[in-house]
Amino acid sequence: MTRAVIALGANLGDRGSTLRSAARAIAAVPGIRPVASSREVESVALTLDGLDTTKPRYRNAVVVVDTDLTPDALLDALHGIEDDHGRTREVRWGDRTLDLDVVAIDDIRIDTATLTVPHPRAGERAFVLAPWLDADPDAELPGAGPVADLLAALGDDTERIDEPRLFDGQGSGQGTEQGPEHTR
Ligand code: ADP
Ligand code: MG
Repeated sequence: MTRAVIALGANLGDRGSTLRSAARAIAAVPGIRPVASSREVESVALTLDGLDTTKPRYRNAVVVVDTDLTPDALLDALHGIEDDHGRTREVRWGDRTLDLDVVAIDDIRIDTATLTVPHPRAGERAFVLAPWLDADPDAELPGAGPVADLLAALGDDTERIDEPRLFDGQGSGQGTEQGPEHTR
C-alpha cells in the first residue's frame, strides 16, 4: 500500500462539477481508497508562455489516496478518468476539461518516459501546494520540504472557493479534523 497525492485541474466546462466527478471516479477505482481531499482553488491559466489572463481560469484541487496500484497502473487509471471527462490532448499545457497529475507517491522517486514523481513542477505551483496543504496540513514534498514552507516562500496567488471538500463524506477523517493521519 502506498499513499499518493493527486492534483486535479480544469479550465473548460463546468469545472467544479468535473473536479467533484473526477474525485468520485478516483475513489471508485479498485485498489484505491480515499484518505483526504481539499476544497477548490481558482487561479489564472498557466501556459507554456506564462500566465495568460485571456484564457479561462483554472479550478484546482488535491486528493490524497492510499493505493495498491503500481505507479504506472495509477497513471493509467487517471488517464482513463481524464478521457471519461472529455479530455483531449492537443497542446501541452493547453486548455483542458480535466488534468490529473501524480504529485507524489510516498517518498519514492520515479523518472521514466511516462512518469516523473514527485511531479517536477509541484513545488513551483501554488495551485498545487495550496490545495495540498488544505487536504493535509502536515504534507511534505519529497526532497523539497514541508508544503507549508514552500507555499509561504512562493506566495499563494490562488483564490479559495467556498465549496465542500471534494471527497465529502468519504475517507477517514474527512469533514472533521484536517488532513490524513500519518500512521504508516
Ligand atoms: P500536462 O499536464 O503537462 O499539460 P498531460 O496531462 O497531457 O500534460 O501529460 C503529459 C504526460 O505527462 C502524460 O501522458 C504522462 O505520461 C506524463 N507524466 C509524467 N509525469 C507525470 C506525473 N507525475 N503525473 C501525470 N503525468 C505525468
Ligand atoms: Mg497532466
